[in-house]
Amino acid sequence: MNWITNYVRPRINSLFSRREVPENLWTKCPECGTMLFHRELADNLNVCNNCDHHLAITPRARFAALFDGGVFNEVKVPEPVADPLQFRDQKKYPERMKAAQKSTGEKEAMLVAEGEMGRTPVVMAAQDFSFMGGSMGMYVGNAIIAAAERAVKLKRPLVLFSAAGGARMQEGILSLMQMPRTTVAVEMLKEAGLPYIVVLTHPTTGGVTASYAMLGDIQIAEPNALICFAGPRVIEQTIREKLPEGFQRAEYLRDHGMLDRVTHRKQLRDELISILRMVGGLPAPVAGDLPAPGNIPAGKPDAADKPEPAPAKVGA
Ligand SMILES: [Zn+2]
Repeated sequence: MNWITNYVRPRINSLFSRREVPENLWTKCPECGTMLFHRELADNLNVCNNCDHHLAITPRARFAALFDGGVFNEVKVPEPVADPLQFRDQKKYPERMKAAQKSTGEKEAMLVAEGEMGRTPVVMAAQDFSFMGGSMGMYVGNAIIAAAERAVKLKRPLVLFSAAGGARMQEGILSLMQMPRTTVAVEMLKEAGLPYIVVLTHPTTGGVTASYAMLGDIQIAEPNALICFAGPRVIEQTIREKLPEGFQRAEYLRDHGMLDRVTHRKQLRDELISILRMVGGLPAPVAGDLPAPGNIPAGKPDAADKPEPAPAKVGA
């Protein structure tokens, strides 16, 4: 028995390993360079508190912030065939998938959930840019179809958050086939008379922009999100001209009629509730913890609005 290896070395090792500070406690804002503490950043929905830059947010964190009390049920998505083309670039496709699953803790690039938002029942789907660039493969196609089918079954609106670098090249033509598939899924909602609302987040590009991300009844985007089919660099190189300032950004697209709204992430929940209730023919949302207006008959003007009747003159 050697007490140096059994006792002293572990103690020394533990002393050194304790000093290691996790690297991800601070995030540098890519826009203004401010160092943001992870807890404050999460409380602020991953929006920089200095310059309002919207950093990426995971579907799970987004759902936790949107659904009432952060409570939601995941909708099951049918598994597609894994690696149908036996694709390999520098790495095998299944290896890339495993690495993405490990780094994100998610199964694939889209999360579907149902729940209530401001007491308004809704189905939501959100794409995860941190999972292989949010690329649209067969699973994402299946997820959108599952979300649409669930919305039709429950007669609920569908809200979709898009974020993608485009189609997943590792699935070749099969990923491109998700464009017509998801378009048919959106058509199912329209036939059922259900609203489909899209929130475009940074960045939404390629085949995703060319299919389900642009088919919403109402198109909302987060501030300064890049939304395009081909990126500005590719266009500039092709046409050899300088593009206008803010080209293909959310505000530019809203000003030129491609989008309905550009909404700050912190106002998004209230805005979605208002829109969903408006298009669903429901009464306006109640802000704050007011008691239910049980005894006030609907449609009657408030008594305080009427002028007081003149008191009857006595003895005149
Ligand atoms: Zn910033």
